[in-house]
Amino acid sequence: MAEAGNKTKCLIIGAGPVGALAALYAAKRGWDVEVYELRGDLRDASTTPLNFTKSINLALSERGINAMRHSGSDGLLEAVLSETIPMYGRMIHGEDSKGDLTEESQLYDVHGRFQRAVDRGELNKTMLDYLEDLPNVELRFHHKLTGADFRKRKAWFEIQPSDSRDHQRRLQEIEVDFDIMLGCDGAHSAVRYHMMKFVRMNYEQSYIDTLWCEFTIPPASSEEESTVSTTSSAKDGFRTSPNHLHIWPSSDKMFIGIPSTDKTFTCTFFAPSSTFASLEQHPEDLEQFFQQQFPGAADLIGPAELQKQFEQNPHLPLISIKCSPHHYSSSGVILGDAAHAMVPFYGQGMNAGLEDVRVLFEHLDAHPATAAGRATALETYTTERVPDAHTVNDLAYANYWEMHAGVRSRLYLFRKTVEEFLSDKVPASGFETQYSRVSFSNQRYSEVAEVVERQRKILIRGMVGSLIVPVVGCIAWWASRWQTSGRRGSSVPFAGGVFRSLGDRIASVFGR
Ligand SMILES: Cc1cc2nc3c(=O)[nH]c(=O)nc-3n(C[C@H](O)[C@H](O)[C@H](O)COP(=O)(O)OP(=O)(O)OC[C@H]3O[C@@H](n4cnc5c(N)ncnc54)[C@H](O)[C@@H]3O)c2cc1C
Repeated sequence: MAEAGNKTKCLIIGAGPVGALAALYAAKRGWDVEVYELRGDLRDASTTPLNFTKSINLALSERGINAMRHSGSDGLLEAVLSETIPMYGRMIHGEDSKGDLTEESQLYDVHGRFQRAVDRGELNKTMLDYLEDLPNVELRFHHKLTGADFRKRKAWFEIQPSDSRDHQRRLQEIEVDFDIMLGCDGAHSAVRYHMMKFVRMNYEQSYIDTLWCEFTIPPASSEEESTVSTTSSAKDGFRTSPNHLHIWPSSDKMFIGIPSTDKTFTCTFFAPSSTFASLEQHPEDLEQFFQQQFPGAADLIGPAELQKQFEQNPHLPLISIKCSPHHYSSSGVILGDAAHAMVPFYGQGMNAGLEDVRVLFEHLDAHPATAAGRATALETYTTERVPDAHTVNDLAYANYWEMHAGVRSRLYLFRKTVEEFLSDKVPASGFETQYSRVSFSNQRYSEVAEVVERQRKILIRGMVGSLIVPVVGCIAWWASRWQTSGRRGSSVPFAGGVFRSLGDRIASVFGR
């Protein structure tokens, strides 16, 4: 085995964003790295359609950026960032009482920090280019992990036909030894499945009752539709503002759009499965449904394209996975969606996966480069990372409310304003919105949740206090008048009810 010669042999399963970054980190430590990917090379144009199974435009934020910053690959981060578009806030689309379309910009951060729209495929390709140049990395596409023995440290792969029509041929299987396997093979991870046979892993998987389908808003210069329109924030050849994440909120549904460097928007329609079923049965209702639920969105796509894309693009479920531990002894660890697939409403899935890589290698670097040292490193990694993964999973669920309802809730916006005011004008207060802590810092997710809960309690006390002081003042004034006027007049039976209902309303908003 490779480790006998003092070189760690590392297998990375999955060449998605997380696997590719993990391979860069491992290679920089001088390990022998072999990356096994089920699909063909993403950079091969004929392979690309196979990878169109996930939203291709994502929000890249500080955690993902920081993980690339620490990869040790000169120029990688700059290359990735040069292909991103800044999104300074959300643009909330709607309709006023006269039926005119409205746009309302809500900035993400009082200090001007922003999200970046990135093409997931391009980001992945850039990392693969960097990997290819490294002498201690081998990229093996069309290799599917079919089995792993984490005690004997052996793995088995099926070599897939590179031509998908060639399914008659008997598949060849190979056996490979390793010291450590990093499972970066996504939500339906084979590494996780095989690791479960060696470790008592707690595992929880759930699907929410929401499906999603992708749409594209073409560039403003597109000529194929005469009916397509633009909004008032449109500029630079984009049909609507290129520097926002666009949201059309609607009760239990939502339509969002993220800009691309080719001046299109990658959009996602989220709705309960029953809504999808009804639209699949009556596709003729689609345009009217969009006009009612997401005013203006259908016109940006174009009615014919709307219909075509709904019929052609897959209607996909949203899975959420929590598991613990994330490792087995010194020989296996899972990262990214394999360890914590989450619903996409916080834009953190890939960011958290890239952060996993940075945190994992921090632990590995802190221990001796031996099997025993690695076992301790993986143990401490699991101890740190599991609570963070579970927390961001929960935050992602909760953010669905913020995106489709919170953005219109006055009390939610009031809390955001107060927190931003304190963050900006009284920085010593330590106040920051949850969104800023999650998206623009590297604070542990579990700490973010704790701090935000503390802030919530302080705000409630502050608000209740500021309501109580004038009310108590009024009561004192009223009581003194009552006393001086010979104790005549009415009693105040309603006061308790007023306080209770006020308290209930405040708590319901700040509890979310
Ligand atoms: C609608 C939607 C919107 C999203 N928006 C955002 C966003 O704005 N920001 C964000 O950070 N995240 C977002 N995400 C989440 C993000 O897409 C994922 O978290 C991220 O792609 C996970 O990367 P990964 O490398 O862990 O897994 P994957 O991208 O799934 O890659 C896994 C790789 O492993 C390979 N593989 C699988 N099985 C095997 C096997 N047996 N053998 C060998 N190889 C195998 C696969 O072919 C694949 O290439 C979104 C997700 C969705 C669905």
